[in-house]
Amino acid sequence: MKLLLRRFSSDLHDTPYTAEVILETGTKINIDRANVDAVRSELIIDVPNDKVEQVSALFKQKGVEVRRLVKLIAWDEERCIHCGACISVCPTGVFTFDQAWTIHLDEEKCIRCDVCVKACPLNALASVD
Ligand code: SF4
Ligand code: SF4
Repeated sequence: MKLLLRRFSSDLHDTPYTAEVILETGTKINIDRANVDAVRSELIIDVPNDKVEQVSALFKQKGVEVRRLVKLIAWDEERCIHCGACISVCPTGVFTFDQAWTIHLDEEKCIRCDVCVKACPLNALASVD
């Protein structure tokens, strides 16, 4: 499952909280996306389903806001004209054509970069909060 982690702190760079959670839980955590500046850190991580509770609890203990990402990208199928623009820009291969040249989504692969949202000429894609 993907988790969105947010932390706001002036001492953000003093504590390697992600590394601590990995070591303390023995969990293989995949970092899908990271936006970090001087006082704000936002990460999307992929955690094995059987470790989600434990990992979430430990991040929260460390003052990190944790949100489960159930829906990763919103696709308005009615608007979609199956032009394929999203296929060429998506860095993780979420979109594919089937044999009838119809778009399909493998949402599990999404890292919420929002590149496809900007690229879709019909505004058929939207990020989900
Ligand atoms: S870019 Fe938009 S309209 Fe084109 S296939 Fe993707 S979702 Fe559909
Ligand atoms: S948000 Fe990024 S990763 Fe997700 S479907 Fe769009 S382009 Fe692909």
